Amino acid sequence: MNNTTRLQYLQTMGITVWQPRFAPVLQTQAEPIESRPIVASEFVEPEPMSAVSELSIAQQWQDLTTEVANCTKCGLCKTRTQTVFGTGNLNADWLIIGEAPGQQEDEQGLPFVGVAGQLLTEMLRAIGLSRDEVFIANILKCRPPNNRDPHVDEIRQCEAYLHRQLQLIQPKIILVVGRIAAHALLNTDAALTKLRAKVHDYQGTPLVVVYHPAYLLRSLSEKRKAWQDLQFAKQTLLNME
Ligand code: URA
Repeated sequence: MNNTTRLQYLQTMGITVWQPRFAPVLQTQAEPIESRPIVASEFVEPEPMSAVSELSIAQQWQDLTTEVANCTKCGLCKTRTQTVFGTGNLNADWLIIGEAPGQQEDEQGLPFVGVAGQLLTEMLRAIGLSRDEVFIANILKCRPPNNRDPHVDEIRQCEAYLHRQLQLIQPKIILVVGRIAAHALLNTDAALTKLRAKVHDYQGTPLVVVYHPAYLLRSLSEKRKAWQDLQFAKQTLLNME
């Protein structure tokens, strides 16, 4: 099949073929190589590769957002007000992962906006980070009724969305907030005291576990440990640079 026919087929299938406007074309004997001189106006700067790949990353975010918003993979779709996709900097060094939306998150469609969320904002500020600099998401994109613990099947169904967020953001470090999220990501049921102050690995990204702000609101005595954990996470990232 010659090149013209191939391009016609691809066009009919709706496939756009990127070609520089002046490109060396594979010639056959039936199509002799043009021998006229090339003039400067025929050189068109090719589309930079980074622009092309960034376009497709934007498309992948768009697709993922739409998929999550319409998700019916588990029963939580019947009780949610809306999904909570996650929010923040799409190129963040820090990916913060909590458990699941609560009532206010379910109402507003944003993670960590309730009282625990305000404390999380303060915790981040303590290590010099604003919410705009990090990306915040949850293990589950939908609120479990009455804030019950997530079920294993819900976590497993929803995890694929988190994986795709991780692949798109490519953070330098993951900060996991609370026991339930830590158990889900690290596949363990160890106590949080055993998981904190260590660098774990999640699909090739360093992961540090900290206390959940909702827990800290109930146990003020643990705030000191939470401060140490945040400093530990910050130092982990600095050591990588
Ligand atoms: N707790 C979480 O783990 N996530 C939220 O978004 C809100 C509260």
